[in-house]
Amino acid sequence: MAGKELAPLPAAAAGPEADVLLRMQADLRRALEKPVAERRWVMVIDLRRCMGCHSCTIACIAENKLPPGVVYRPVIDEEIGTYPHVSRVFTPRPCMQCDSPPCVPVCPVAATFKRPDGVVAIDYDRCIGCRYCIAACPYNARTFDFGEYYTEDTPALQPYEKAPTYEYGQKRVRSGGASPVGNARKCHFCLHRLEEGMLPACVTSCVGRATYFGDANDPESLVHELIGRPNVQVLKPEAGTMPRVYYLV
Ligand code: SF4
Ligand code: SF4
Repeated sequence: MAGKELAPLPAAAAGPEADVLLRMQADLRRALEKPVAERRWVMVIDLRRCMGCHSCTIACIAENKLPPGVVYRPVIDEEIGTYPHVSRVFTPRPCMQCDSPPCVPVCPVAATFKRPDGVVAIDYDRCIGCRYCIAACPYNARTFDFGEYYTEDTPALQPYEKAPTYEYGQKRVRSGGASPVGNARKCHFCLHRLEEGMLPACVTSCVGRATYFGDANDPESLVHELIGRPNVQVLKPEAGTMPRVYYLV
């Protein structure tokens, strides 16, 4: 399926001097022109640029209306070394969209599956909430929606908690125990935004310009260039999961 008709981008998006966000936006538009199966979405995170501000975490919570206990993009804060030679390392850790995802075969109802573009998705209507996938993920990238609200037991639930989400392109309102309440949840690279020509919320909100996104099958894309660098790593390579999230170290 080729992409839908989208408004043109500003001319500044072209050329090697373009801001990385504009360049990635142009990369995204090119990818959307291709059939889904020919896109290879990947994310690259430059740990040298991440300052641990958690803007991406918050933007993700706002974008996907995430309730208490559900986090798609935590930023892990580690202290390295011993005093006085101490430094801190911040590692944003979304779902790795593994090419060999342990969460998929354990799902008894095929609610978790890998899409042709490589994103590992959850069909909320099929998920029975058994949480096998949560146990199987070596990255702790999945959490469970227990149906809680930040403002419950205050005088009234606030409207932002009842606003609809558009994950997987489906409009849903968390109320009355309806999905995604009672389901496993995780990062999906903001698929609903991609289809509208927008980058994932964590990418556009990254204050340090440390997060990059695009189609690795496109030799002109920024991410294609970045994952070819010698300082690229993935998390837990020994797990054999073949992540699609890469780190520059
Ligand atoms: S990081 Fe975890 S949830 Fe994401 S695809 Fe890999 S195994 Fe599945
Ligand atoms: S919690 Fe849902 S997605 Fe996960 S294994 Fe069970 S049915 Fe599948």
